Parts: sequence; structure tokens; C-alpha cells
Amino acid sequence: MTVGVLGGGQLGRMIALAGYTLGQRFVFLDPGAESSAGHVGNLRVGTYDDEERLSELARKSDVVTYEFENVPVGSARFLNELVPVYPPPAALEVSQDRLDEKQFFVRLGIPTPPFAAVSSREELDQAVQRIGLPLVIKTRRFGYDGKGQMVLRTEADVDHAWEALGAALLIVEGLVPFERELSILSVRGKDGETRFWPLVENEHRDGVLRISVPKSDAWTPELQARAEAYAARVLDTLGYVGVLAIELFLKDGELVVNEMAPRVHNSGHWTIEGAETSQFENHVRAILGLPLGSTRMVGPSAMLNVIGKLPPKERVLAVEGAHLHAYGKDASPGRKLGHVTIRAQSREELCARIEELLPIVDPDASGPPKSLWPPA
Ligand code: AMP
Repeated sequence: MTVGVLGGGQLGRMIALAGYTLGQRFVFLDPGAESSAGHVGNLRVGTYDDEERLSELARKSDVVTYEFENVPVGSARFLNELVPVYPPPAALEVSQDRLDEKQFFVRLGIPTPPFAAVSSREELDQAVQRIGLPLVIKTRRFGYDGKGQMVLRTEADVDHAWEALGAALLIVEGLVPFERELSILSVRGKDGETRFWPLVENEHRDGVLRISVPKSDAWTPELQARAEAYAARVLDTLGYVGVLAIELFLKDGELVVNEMAPRVHNSGHWTIEGAETSQFENHVRAILGLPLGSTRMVGPSAMLNVIGKLPPKERVLAVEGAHLHAYGKDASPGRKLGHVTIRAQSREELCARIEELLPIVDPDASGPPKSLWPPA
């Protein structure tokens, strides 16, 4: 069986690395000739709307998936006429527009921040009136890692944001004064079976994920059950097949959904060593119609992203329990170049190992992410 993948970045690469052990082959389509998945699979270079390339991908593949959510929906639908595409193109469509996505959550009874569509200065002023400052203003499409968004705290910020972003279709959202940022990773098979990994706590800096901790001290069985119920509604409504990530804010014991990603997700990278079955393997199992694997966490784990500069491998690997995943990408500021999973036997040992690794992996971190594990 050959799996076609739209996108040849690190997510595609890690899907392939997991799929090879099951005996699958992979072919990628990506506009970049240097894409990191090309080191581990057959990379075809072309744009995502090139019908010739898409047809070629379909001919070579038994099933097609995608590793990022800005693939044109039209291309996913075109492919779906030729070969099964999972997750279903409808999932791609709803997640590409922040307004559609929020309205979809509302229809499913899933809490979101208050929001309003904005396509004129008048609508922006009305939204500011109705929801009240502070707000976040975001482009409806093509935003990622905090790009295409601004926080509005004053009237002057409103003017400024309109100048900067007013040309695009926009959404404004109430700024949630959250205590924690969490995500729920889930997978649904072709037969409708669903599984969920433990809730992950995520810390960002400059809009980019830095550290993920599954089952952090914010975790409770009640939160897990609620997050699973929300994810299950999304999965079942879309007839979803594959891995889905949903990002959540935790505030006053309540979960508020920020956004979803219809794909494997950075906050699930810890599962490669930290869970019985990784998000990548379960994604492959799901889209091939194979039984899903256990999502059980095998022990205390965390993930540190490697951003901008690859640390010396010798130093990372000298830390007991550290597993380096380098994506084979050229270094440049702000670029995700890899991640390190840290495993330990106990929470104390995990914290000690993170403190040892942080200066090596993320020297600009202001200190250990204490919010994740207050001293016992
Ligand atoms: P997003 O691109 O929507 O995931 O936003 C990037 C980051 O901005 C999130 O991880 C949050 O830290 C922050 N953020 C986005 N929307 C909101 C919101 N409505 N309230 C508070 N923080 C937000």
C-alpha cells in the first residue's frame, strides 16, 4: 500500500517514519524541492493546485492524507474523486476559516470565546462595542503560529489593527484570560472507533509552541472527559478518519475551544516515545483501516521544541531519557527544526531532566516552565 501525502514537512516525514514500520510506502507532494519528507520518501515537487501533479499522486497512492491545513479544499476534493482522502475534505474546509470553524463549534454546543465576523471598519467598531476590549483580531484564513493576529487593548490599537489587517476578512474574539493552554489529540478509525491521548499542556513563546507536557498538574479526569466529549462530537459529525487536534483554553475550571487542526499536531509529538502508540502510527492505522493502537501514556513525558538553531546533538543525547528528532531542515530564526522528547520514571526525574535540557535546547527560555509543575 502506498500513502500519498499533501505536504512534505516534518509532519509528513514523521507520518512516513511511523508508517514504514508497518510496511507502507509514501509519496509526497510539496512545492519545495528541499522538503524534509523528501529525505525519507518519494517527493514530487509541484503546487497543490497542479491537477497534473495531483493526478499523478492519486495514481501512485492507495489513500491520500495531508499534513497541513492550508491545502486548497478544491485539490482535496479533486483527489477524493480518484482515491480516498482522509481526513475528509470537509474537515479541511471547516478548519481553514476561523469563522466557519467557530460557528461549527457553536452548532455542536462546544464553548468558544465570544466572536464576531469583521469585514468593514463599521463592523469592527460594532464588535468592539458588543464584546468589549481586550480582543484578539485574526485573519480568517491562512494564520498560523500567531501570525495574522493582534491583541487589541485600547482604541488606538483598534485603529492600528484596522490599518494593518483591514484588507483581509477578519474575525475578532474576546481575549480569554486563560490559566492554561491545553490540547486534546484524538483519532478515529474507518469503523468509527475513537481513541484519545491524555490532555496536553502547552506553553508558547512569541506565538510558537515551546513545550508540551501530557497529563500536567492541570489534568483532571473531569477535564479529560469533557475534552474527549467535545472532540468526539467533532469527529463523529465530520465522519472523521485520522488524527485530530483541538486546542483549548482552561479558565476557571472550564474548557473553551480555540481551534482545531485536522492532522497530526506539534503538541502530540511526545507520543512517539511517551505513548503506547504515537499519533503518527495511529494516523496511518486509521487511514488504512487498521485497528487503532492504545493511546496510553507509558510514563512521565514532555516535549521541547527546537526552534531556530539545532543544539549540539552530543549534549542533548547525553541527558538520560532525551530523544532527539531532527527534521533535516536548514536553520533559520523562528523555524521549527526538531523536537526533543524527555522520558523519566517519575515526575521529579522529569523536572530535573527538563531543567538540564532547557539551557541546551532553548537557551532563550526565561526559566523552567514552573506553571507546569509547581514544587510538590
Ligand atoms: P491561534 O493561532 O488561534 O492558535 O493563536 C495563537 C495563540 O494566541 C494561542 O495559542 C493563544 O496563546 C493566543 N490566543 C489566540 N486566541 C486567543 C483568545 N481568544 N484569547 C486568548 N488568547 C488567544
